[in-house]
Amino acid sequence: MSEASKQTIGFIGLGIMGRPMSQHLVKAGYPLVVYDIVPAGVEELVAAGAKAAGSSSEVAAQADLVITMLPDSPDVEAAYMGPGGVLEGARPGTILVDMSTISPTVAKKVAEAAAGRGCSMLDAPVSGGDVGARNATLSIMVGGDPAVFEKVKPVFEVMGRPTLCGPSGSGQVVKACNQILVAVTLVGMAEALVLGAKAGVDPEIVVKVLQGGLARCGVLENRGLRVTRRDFAPGFRSRLHYKDLNIIREAGRAYGCALPASALAHELFGAMQSLGWGELDHSAVVRVIETLSNTEVRAHNQ
Ligand code: NAD
Repeated sequence: MSEASKQTIGFIGLGIMGRPMSQHLVKAGYPLVVYDIVPAGVEELVAAGAKAAGSSSEVAAQADLVITMLPDSPDVEAAYMGPGGVLEGARPGTILVDMSTISPTVAKKVAEAAAGRGCSMLDAPVSGGDVGARNATLSIMVGGDPAVFEKVKPVFEVMGRPTLCGPSGSGQVVKACNQILVAVTLVGMAEALVLGAKAGVDPEIVVKVLQGGLARCGVLENRGLRVTRRDFAPGFRSRLHYKDLNIIREAGRAYGCALPASALAHELFGAMQSLGWGELDHSAVVRVIETLSNTEVRAHNQ
């Protein structure tokens, strides 16, 4: 075991993503201290060999490196800067890594507060979903100091493939770019499939033909036939993508960018929440376009 792998790691946020990510760290031989406001994830990790702590500050007090995997910006602010938070317990020199998808401006704010306590912080959101977390193949987008990135790299490599994107906040910026492209492509695919279906063409033919030309893409490849077969089990829940579209719009305002297609996707994903489809896969945005067009995209053999 290398010197770096003997560091004690604190892991906070043991949900769909945090559980498999932290399991990989235990298997790689890192002593792990864990915390979540919900006990189920903690129990699973303790059974795998981790130690439980009673709060985020207790985790930080025992760790050389703290990782968080939490839902949204307010959760990250609370877990670091709130009472009983990471910054209360962390010793100067502790490295902090937030892997949640949050606002780039909040990421920078929390990193500045960490620096005030003598701690370095990286933002390191991921893509690849729960499958990528389980298979340790996450794409990890990192913002922060290159020297700190080099120190944490062996830990990232236990969970996936890290790329340093630039200074603090840059990882979150690249994640926002990823979420723009996926959301807008899902809306484009929905419109294409609705037009094809209502005009009488088998939507499976539409998917297969489009996959052979310039429109070919991961969204069409992973979600096209699932839509035509009416499989909207998540994958990635639409409510989390809606959260990301809120982050994108806030980032657009903060950096003075016009993001008109993201604004449209934001409205359509918002409608999914009002219609009670927040727990469905994000590809279910097709159902909004179907409702507006009074049709359904369904493979002719279904
Ligand atoms: P999740 O809701 O399953 O897990 C979040 C965990 O954080 C929960 O167990 C919750 O109890 C815990 N938590 C919340 N506030 C806390 C606090 N203050 N202190 C301690 N624990 C707290 O969410 P997830 O799917 O694991 O996603 C986590 C992050 O990763 C999100 O930002 C999400 O957008 C991002 N992400 C998710 C996926 C995916 O496919 N699920 C893919 C890429 C990125």
